[in-house]
Amino acid sequence: LTAVNRRRVGGADRSGAARRGARWVACPVTVATGCREVAPAPPLPAGAMVKETIRVYARVKPVGRRQQAGIYSVDDNEKTVSSLEIIVPRDLADGFVNNKRENYKFKFQKIFDQEAKQDVIFESIAKPVAECALAGYNGTIFAYGQTGSGKTFTITGGAERYSDRGIIPRTLSYIFEQLQKDSSKVYTTHVSYLEIYNECGYDLLDPRHEASRLDDLPKVTIMEDPDQNIHLKNLSLQQAANEEEALNLLFLGDTNRMIAETPMNQASTRSHCIFTIHISSKEPGSATIRRSKLHLVDLAGSERVTKTGVGGHLLTEAKYINLSLHYLEQVIIALAEKNRSHIPYRNSMMTSVLRDSLGGNCMTTMIATLSLDKRNIDESISTCRFAQRVALIKNEAVLNEEIDPRLMIAQLKKEIQDLKDELALVTGEQRTAELSQEEQIRLNELTERFLEDNDPESILDVGPDMRKIKYCFIHMKKLMNHSRISENKVFSQNILEEDTSMQARKEELKLKELLQQRDSEINILVNMLKKEKKKAQDALFQLNAVSGDSKALDQCISINLEERQSPSTHVNLKEAKDFSCSVRRLPFLSRQTGAMSLGCQEAFEVFKRDHADSITIEDNKQLLKQRFAEAKSLGEKVNEVRNKINHLKGEITQRHIQRAALAVASPSEELSKFDPVEEKLRAQIEEEKKSYKMMFNHLKGLKVEIEHLQLLMEKAKVKLQKDFEVWWSEEATKLQ
Ligand code: ADP
Ligand code: MG
Repeated sequence: LTAVNRRRVGGADRSGAARRGARWVACPVTVATGCREVAPAPPLPAGAMVKETIRVYARVKPVGRRQQAGIYSVDDNEKTVSSLEIIVPRDLADGFVNNKRENYKFKFQKIFDQEAKQDVIFESIAKPVAECALAGYNGTIFAYGQTGSGKTFTITGGAERYSDRGIIPRTLSYIFEQLQKDSSKVYTTHVSYLEIYNECGYDLLDPRHEASRLDDLPKVTIMEDPDQNIHLKNLSLQQAANEEEALNLLFLGDTNRMIAETPMNQASTRSHCIFTIHISSKEPGSATIRRSKLHLVDLAGSERVTKTGVGGHLLTEAKYINLSLHYLEQVIIALAEKNRSHIPYRNSMMTSVLRDSLGGNCMTTMIATLSLDKRNIDESISTCRFAQRVALIKNEAVLNEEIDPRLMIAQLKKEIQDLKDELALVTGEQRTAELSQEEQIRLNELTERFLEDNDPESILDVGPDMRKIKYCFIHMKKLMNHSRISENKVFSQNILEEDTSMQARKEELKLKELLQQRDSEINILVNMLKKEKKKAQDALFQLNAVSGDSKALDQCISINLEERQSPSTHVNLKEAKDFSCSVRRLPFLSRQTGAMSLGCQEAFEVFKRDHADSITIEDNKQLLKQRFAEAKSLGEKVNEVRNKINHLKGEITQRHIQRAALAVASPSEELSKFDPVEEKLRAQIEEEKKSYKMMFNHLKGLKVEIEHLQLLMEKAKVKLQKDFEVWWSEEATKLQ
């Protein structure tokens, strides 16, 4: 087992349980004998784990003399499973929770009937789990059932007889017995005992014995680290070196639990108790530690409140009294569903603490405790139904191994020292980490001589000493680098000369390109001019044909042409600049020249004038101008009104001061509280405020309109530029 398992996993597999228990190191698994029926597998790839469903057992509590026969039957014939049949008496089947069905069949790993004794329960259920815990796997045994069905009796045991000891004391006894037998490893055992009541955790191993209420016990809280591992803050881990110490701790916890309980809180039926045995083991001299946890869990009573429906009928839907059991069921349902990525562990403290036991890195066993008498038939059916769901859950238990870095370092240091000693013995000289000065000089000489030697057969022999060999290589590297630097100096001079001529060539190319571009620009412009001329001639011809009054028309056309040939009026130039500013952004135009050439600008002017959108732009521009003017005058007016208001306010203050002074001067004079002047001023202010508000709103409207118009213009401009760009490149290719 150890030979196969003592291999460290270097993050090759980070799936499933390995991720959940990130601190643990997953290893190939060959399970120890007696530890479930997992076949001794051939060496598996690193990260393998034991996958198996939660084992579910049933235990029927003895019901004494008044036992009602025929309520249930156990079928143990099959080897691997046994089934429990619950027969609902006729009188109960009517309108009861069971939808009038009369019998139910549930399958369990094994059913322990009323006469089953505690030792049998331990041997069949708990011992295999304890064995797994000793081998390094996490284990959980939890008892589930209604209050009074025998959970505490099964997990902890009865108080009267020694033979009634439950799973916890028997497991402790077994574990310590095994530890004593196994001298090949060093074991450490700790126990903790946690009670969860009303979503609060309490440390039952508080040694002060002073708790008279649950709240007197240290409160335990849940912490989650970045790797999503759960840590229980404030839960004490008490070391137990032997069975006696461990049992003392169990009794301490049970006493605290009993004392803290009052009839009011009904802690024993409404709380969950988790007794945990922590085992760590290590082979002497090894840096690998195995750690495992064995949770023995006594859950709160699973009884439900049955709701009464209309007409007094009991409804099938029933609620747990204990909310965390409801969350436990949710977790179980989620786990049983395929492809569920989110499991709601966090809803309750109990499910958080038992996260690994449910669908995680743990070998888990459930004992369904049943109190199968007539009164409890519905609860028993509920318990069995829950058990069937739990039986579907797959867990993935991995061997929890860790490397202790401190032990590892100590071990490696020792190994180094041993090797050094061995080397000194063989070579007859004590070696230090560094070479001495003399040795270094000698090696330098040897290396240089070797490099200068033209004889191809020559060798560099420094003896079987890695330090010296490495030193020679480093020295050689230094020499090589040095000679390369001096070579580089000569080389770079040549490069410099080459560089200058390259630069000149590049410059020449650039100029040539520019020249070509200018040529094509001129050609485009000439073409445009030709077209304009033709248009003019055509018009002339038409007019001549119509009126024959060529003189007047000649004049008209010459004006027209004049206009067209000198488009660069003051305004136009300014606009062209505006446009070219934005045109500069266009990659096509700026690629080579870096700016719009003059020829291109001229062409753009003509293009723009003929473009349909320029009318829209012009209209918008006019409108914008108008709106600006409006806004400006409105703004001025608003300011005026504001000043006026301020002025009126000042007058009121002035008035106040005057009246106050008057009151001081002649205190006898009764000053009427009402001041008509002030009242008038106030009325005026209100008036002004009204118009201020109106104008302000108008101004706001104008602002919105102006912004909108600006956006429209910007859009039209960009479109114009784009059209021009397309046209320009088309013309250029046509010419080519
Ligand atoms: P729970 O913890 O589920 O509320 P308990 O374990 O306290 O139930 O059991 C209720 C009572 O029944 C106790 O007095 C207990 O001793 C007794 N009892 C339960 N199971 C058995 C059993 N298998 N044999 C004998 N007595 C039992
Ligand atoms: Mg109990």
